[in-house]
Amino acid sequence: EILADPVAKIAGVGGSRHPSIPLPVDLFGAGHRNSGGIDLSDVNILARTVAVVNDTGLVRRAGAVANAPADAAGLVRDAVSRAHAAFPGWSATTVDDRAACLDRLADLLEQDRDRLMAICVQEAFKTIPDAIGEVREAADFCRYYAQQARMHLRAIELPGPTGERNMLHLDGRGVWATIAPWNFPLAIFLGQTVAALVTGNTVVAKPAPQTPLIAQAAVELAHRAGVPRDALVLVTGGPDVGAALTGDVRVAGVAFTGSTATAKRIARTLVEDDDRPIVPLIAETGGINAMIVDSTALPEQVVADVVASSFRSAGQRCSALRLLLVQEEVADTVIEMLAGAMDTLRIGDPGDPATDVGPVIDRASYDKLMAYRANPKGQTLKTLAVPAEGLFVPPTLIRLTAIEELDREWFGPILHVATWPAGKLTETIARVNAKGYGLTMGLHSRIARAAEVAEAEAAVGNLYINRSMIGAVVGSQPFGGEGLSGTGPKAGGPHYLYRFCAERAVSVDT
Ligand code: GLU
Repeated sequence: EILADPVAKIAGVGGSRHPSIPLPVDLFGAGHRNSGGIDLSDVNILARTVAVVNDTGLVRRAGAVANAPADAAGLVRDAVSRAHAAFPGWSATTVDDRAACLDRLADLLEQDRDRLMAICVQEAFKTIPDAIGEVREAADFCRYYAQQARMHLRAIELPGPTGERNMLHLDGRGVWATIAPWNFPLAIFLGQTVAALVTGNTVVAKPAPQTPLIAQAAVELAHRAGVPRDALVLVTGGPDVGAALTGDVRVAGVAFTGSTATAKRIARTLVEDDDRPIVPLIAETGGINAMIVDSTALPEQVVADVVASSFRSAGQRCSALRLLLVQEEVADTVIEMLAGAMDTLRIGDPGDPATDVGPVIDRASYDKLMAYRANPKGQTLKTLAVPAEGLFVPPTLIRLTAIEELDREWFGPILHVATWPAGKLTETIARVNAKGYGLTMGLHSRIARAAEVAEAEAAVGNLYINRSMIGAVVGSQPFGGEGLSGTGPKAGGPHYLYRFCAERAVSVDT
């Protein structure tokens, strides 16, 4: 059965309004923008089936999913045409004007925080703390990139012999495709998009099929903040839309966050057409992220950081801890304390502010994780009870006999633990590096030399010492990995914007 009106459903008319979060009456109804209601004309949304709403039980996910459009190729062609036509005008605006748009967008995001949080909770099952973080990070990206653009996107004069003038310019490249994940459907969706916009590019933005509504809300706010409608065009749908978008030869760059497999598919698509310009791909993917704990670490701090890193956001962060490696001598103590700490996690309705762990994103993800839990690589040491109804994957601790046994990323609240022998820190890091991923790594140790070794040996984009491994802060912990984890650019860092630019040197004999 298909719901007749997904929008009414989300607004509460269909009875699915979340009890814990009073939605503003004008969420999608009359009074929201002058036209009344969310503008669905840009978005191809199909109602989620009632069966899926029932799946989520307590959560009552209202749910809309971006449906595969009937004509993905046509939808994308039109969107790229609009963005392509808008490029000369937008790229001719000043950096200051574009940065001002981003600052206004940050203000609008903050003013609209409650509505955006409500959509994040309902559409992506974000817990309240995660939903707050989502809006805050989105606003941070806008303000940070605005500031960075003002500081760095100036033409600079370079030295040369007398009688020669050398200038280096930073320009937009053209139309960027930004393709976002469902796990940060506002922050990463907007972060990638505003970075492309402020550098003078126009954008066709594609959210994950699970989270079209928060993307729609974000794009509306960006337009209200002054970004021309054709400089930022939203397309929604599944892999066929993504493939058409990255396959369009007018697309001059792709910023993608998602799976390693999809990143590789995009990379192949970008070089398929011999006549196509060689274009940049910014990819941020997953990881088999490890935390290494030695015998000098403070167990209480270790346990708190492990619980946060593994189970917050139901383990659905690419930065999340997947493999805990404890020095043999302290392993039993740490594991026992960890199992005890897991009992304090509150699992349930994400709209309840006290909830620590909500459901996972969808049935497909739930089925995959539950199938693995039923038949894991190692021995299950600890698992928690969860509400009977809903897509709740119990936080689970699994003991491995060797580091190598974990050979893929499980994108949920499943943590593996193994031990390492004293005196073998360098080798242990090498064994983690050998997995080929390179996103986050953690170290808990009170020995300065151990920190130096980790810094020298860990082949990761983000190394966290004596703290949790999640929640990279814009401007403080530029985020992004290497190897199978991505192409390396650091979102929220001072070099990120350059990746979106064409650099042009002009030399004049005066
Ligand atoms: N930046 C996020 C963090 O540090 C993770 C981003 C992601 O999951 O893609 O937790």
